[in-house]
Amino acid sequence: MTAPRKICLTGPTRLKVAEDILRAAGCELSLGKSADDFPKLRYERGELLRLIGDCDILYPAGRDTIGADILDACANLQAVVKSSIGIESVDTDAATDLGILCCNSPTPENYLGVAEATLGLMVALFKRLKFNEACLRGGGWKAPQNRGALMLGKTVGIIGVGRIGQNVAKRLGAWGMTILGYDPYVAQETVSALGVKMVALETLLRASDLVTLHVVLTRETREMIGLRELKMMKSSAFIINTSRGPAIGEKDLVQALNEKIIAAAALDVFDEEPLPSDSPLRQVDPSRLILTPHIIGTNPGSAEAGQRMAAGSMLAILEGKAPDTVVNPQAIPRWKERFWP
Ligand code: NAD
Repeated sequence: MTAPRKICLTGPTRLKVAEDILRAAGCELSLGKSADDFPKLRYERGELLRLIGDCDILYPAGRDTIGADILDACANLQAVVKSSIGIESVDTDAATDLGILCCNSPTPENYLGVAEATLGLMVALFKRLKFNEACLRGGGWKAPQNRGALMLGKTVGIIGVGRIGQNVAKRLGAWGMTILGYDPYVAQETVSALGVKMVALETLLRASDLVTLHVVLTRETREMIGLRELKMMKSSAFIINTSRGPAIGEKDLVQALNEKIIAAAALDVFDEEPLPSDSPLRQVDPSRLILTPHIIGTNPGSAEAGQRMAAGSMLAILEGKAPDTVVNPQAIPRWKERFWP
């Protein structure tokens, strides 16, 4: 009889879809502290290493950072699997060097949820929904200067034209808007049918009435939008970030909003999450800044689908098969050599 395969869940959740699938498949689980009850928990290195022990697979919670020192110290570790799309909290470069697979879980429930929500935020910004609602509740009524804008004929700039960016473009297709895209890794041919015109970043920033970010967080995209870039935008323009907080310099955005360098913004993601109570973002005029707690893309099916996809990736890896969800395919030859010779 072969020894049971071991999986470490650093932050189990009340939703136990992945746990149930893994147990039913005969896996032994090492469970850390609940991610629901301790969302801000930071493991000490020693504590995390003890938890991982000789596990074959690490399934970290959203709050947990998995650095090179952890990966290097876990001799049995074949893979790190996340139930989300974003995997920037794992040092994937170090994992690649070590032959450790890294997998994310890009489910349609997740990326279409974000695409739908992005359209909602666009409408809210163009139509000045927050401002006019606050105006009415404050005793005011309609005034010509408080009207929103017609979206027809306006230009939307999509930075990062991957799954979510392309689905935003697809949904905007019937709105009669010009759609610009910037993504150094996506060719014009890939998105022509969606009506997206790929341009340089500066062209996109200068021409767009609304800019929406859908990049993965990497060394390249971290703070790719700072004060310099915000100053290239029209003073009437909006910016949306549902990707990852650090893609926009938070301090620069606060300054741009306070000094009316741009008109308004909507953020679902932040440098530090949960958003600290003393964040300067909380002091910005709320009628010009929509803040949502990293929830806008989620829906009742998205967490379950993410866990199901993650469990599927883990079980494939335990059979020596590299799943489609591997984000560092360069690691596959070394992984095979080390674990499946
Ligand atoms: P994706 O990998 O399909 O697309 C990301 C795109 O970013 C790719 O096309 C890539 O080429 C592009 N990119 C990389 N470097 C770039 C650069 N320097 N400049 C411009 N573009 C660059 O990912 P996705 O599924 O579309 O997800 C996009 C983002 O949304 C990710 O950061 C993900 O973590 C985030 N996300 C957020 C939520 C949420 O709840 N708010 C939910 C799901 C995903």
